[in-house]
Amino acid sequence: MPLTGIEIYKHLPKTNCKECGFPTCLAFAMKVAQKTVPVTNCPYLSPEARAALEAAARPPIHLVTIGADKRKIEVGNEVVMFRHEKTFYHPPGIVVRLKDTTPVEELKRRAQEVASYQVERVGMKLGLDGLALENASGDPSALARALEAVDGQGDLPLVLMAGPGALAPVLEKVAPRRPLLYAATRDNWEAMAELALKYKCPLAVAEPSGLEALAGQVEKISQKGVEDIVLDPGARDFASSLVTLTQIRRLALKKNFRPLGHPVITFPGEGAKDQEEEALLAAQQVAKYAGVIVLDRFSPSLAYPLLALRLNIYTDPQKPIQVQPGVYQLGAPKEASPLCVTTNFSLTYFSIAGELESSGFPSWLLVCDTEGLSVLTAWAAGKFDAAKIAKTVKEFKAGETVSHHSLILPGKVAVLKGELEEELPGWQVLVGPPEAMDIGGFLKQHWKN
Ligand code: SF4
Repeated sequence: MPLTGIEIYKHLPKTNCKECGFPTCLAFAMKVAQKTVPVTNCPYLSPEARAALEAAARPPIHLVTIGADKRKIEVGNEVVMFRHEKTFYHPPGIVVRLKDTTPVEELKRRAQEVASYQVERVGMKLGLDGLALENASGDPSALARALEAVDGQGDLPLVLMAGPGALAPVLEKVAPRRPLLYAATRDNWEAMAELALKYKCPLAVAEPSGLEALAGQVEKISQKGVEDIVLDPGARDFASSLVTLTQIRRLALKKNFRPLGHPVITFPGEGAKDQEEEALLAAQQVAKYAGVIVLDRFSPSLAYPLLALRLNIYTDPQKPIQVQPGVYQLGAPKEASPLCVTTNFSLTYFSIAGELESSGFPSWLLVCDTEGLSVLTAWAAGKFDAAKIAKTVKEFKAGETVSHHSLILPGKVAVLKGELEEELPGWQVLVGPPEAMDIGGFLKQHWKN
């Protein structure tokens, strides 16, 4: 929990010397609590007070970066248990595990498949985030060969799953890409910590015998100087994953328990009996509370819903995804083509746009600024009424775009028809279907080109 102004004030010298630019220490403390000025602006802090305030200002869950280029994975730094309390900031990285026992050509093919997988949803391009490469053979030279095979296939962020003996030689080459090293165990933690420090890489700490033991292990490694830590508490099935990851999150956020204030890595494939179960478990972990999810099985049909779910969960509920208001062309519409109107909530826009594109009727789509609300919500909030629609028609010169002056209204706001015709003299308002999926049938029945 962040410190209040009064708690910060207790650590200040209380001399009101004004050198920080504020008339009193209390005024300064209030601004520090609001995070508008750094506490270091006071030159008279004792070393103890400074250390205490800086420690309290650290986020309860450490931000960890895996990878070094623009495709890097950033996880952690979350501040709430539930998305509706504020928002979730850093979506879990979803990576696919490959093993160095797989033939080189097959490894290349799979790495390429993962790197090139991309789908579009609500105007955004979604894809997988990285590869986990496991030294399943136990042979260090096999790991090096496998790494060479996947290297260059999209240069995705890496999780390297191997002991220190196999990691040391490959890190000479790949350390600048900041792979996540998996994992420090109770047997090898000193060697793994040394590698993490030497090569400036994040380090996963695996301890399946309970959270107390995991916290103890993390403290030992932190004392060595490793800061970027990812936790593997060993929870694999549905129930233990939900319970353990929730406990870790609660301890970090509610108790400010630093040893567990790190993102968590999960392996849903190890807790599932088939591909569908793995996808379900991964979906649970997207919501609660994974930082990195390592999939064992990749298929586009299961990756897409997982990525869509992640997008939904990690969209700020107070800032819906929006499209720009305006008149959009779908297909190659002419002056006589249909003109529909809708709101600027992305999901609404892309639903109706997709249906119009596949309807066989090239169309115009007028999008009103409803601050990202869907049709009924915007109507109920007074942001999608006759006056707003008429204003948008005029603002974007829809009357000069089409020759017919007919406007198709979403069926869910049929009640606006009369009022809208009054606002737009000379226009005919048609009431379309309530659901976007029925617009094609509606046009076939009612629109004469
Ligand atoms: Fe107080 Fe420090 Fe500001 Fe002086 S500089 S008024 S001691 S907070």
